[in-house]
Amino acid sequence: MELYNPSAVRALLSQYGLRPQKALGQNFIVNPTVCPRIAEGGGARPGVGALEIGPGVGVLTRELAKRCEKVVAIELDRGLLPLLGETLGEFANAEVVHGDVLKLDLPSLVRERFGDMPVVVCANLPYYITTPVLMGLLESGIAFESITVMVQKETARRFCAPLPSREAGAVTMAIAYRAACRILFEVSRGCFLPPPNVDSAVIKLTPHQKPPVDVIDQAMLFAVIRAAFSQRRKTLLNCISSAFNLPKAEVSELLTGVQVASTARGEQLDLADIARIADTLTQKGTAPEA
Ligand code: SAM
Repeated sequence: MELYNPSAVRALLSQYGLRPQKALGQNFIVNPTVCPRIAEGGGARPGVGALEIGPGVGVLTRELAKRCEKVVAIELDRGLLPLLGETLGEFANAEVVHGDVLKLDLPSLVRERFGDMPVVVCANLPYYITTPVLMGLLESGIAFESITVMVQKETARRFCAPLPSREAGAVTMAIAYRAACRILFEVSRGCFLPPPNVDSAVIKLTPHQKPPVDVIDQAMLFAVIRAAFSQRRKTLLNCISSAFNLPKAEVSELLTGVQVASTARGEQLDLADIARIADTLTQKGTAPEA
């Protein structure tokens, strides 16, 4: 299999009447060191099941299949299925499921395909849906051992930014509530066919056994996270007041009560600050969807 040779991959695609589709985020890895590193860094090993999102021509799938008990790869592009039949033909433990990762019932799929096996996610994600895919995986209730994915380099920095910090955003906080996040290694654009306009990085998320902060209502916690970062130039006082439709005097009193400055910005808060604000709003009977 010459899946790390750009000309061979182009020839293989054209044999099946295909070419990389930008709209589906199809940038295929053609560097021989990247996929083995994702698989190893992602905990692929005997006895473990691997869930892959977007196998493309199957380069990472093959590396996972060599190391894991079983691999299930979800691919949206129906045209790639016969090609994957060829590139994965030698691996009885690799299965491709046709579908949209954002629409499939992942808890049922993981239960049916992997049973009691520990399951890791390993993927070179389609970048246009990075955040919904990651949040969907973290919110799915599935006890993934870890989630190791390639994303845009800037996205990786934002996701793994310390709290509080200037690079942190709502998604940083939402991820930090669910998992520990770190950058494993960076990948230059030249490692892909076709090369994207951005560099990439592989990140590893290890879900928490228990959230780092306790809250009365998780929906309220996420509503406060969204509100705190809704208007980056505005103070927390203004953001909370407009998101929850509360008078400024009331919000000011609330913030003083939880030892958070009214002039603070979302990027100056940590999860404990957000949790205290959320619990106070819950106790006041405020609706989280405000
Ligand atoms: N894993 C391959 C590699 O590393 O070379 C391909 C990665 S490519 C960046 C992303 C893959 O995700 C493509 O194969 C694309 O067709 C697939 N894809 C795009 N949107 C998807 C979705 N909503 N659900 C499942 N797969 C999707």
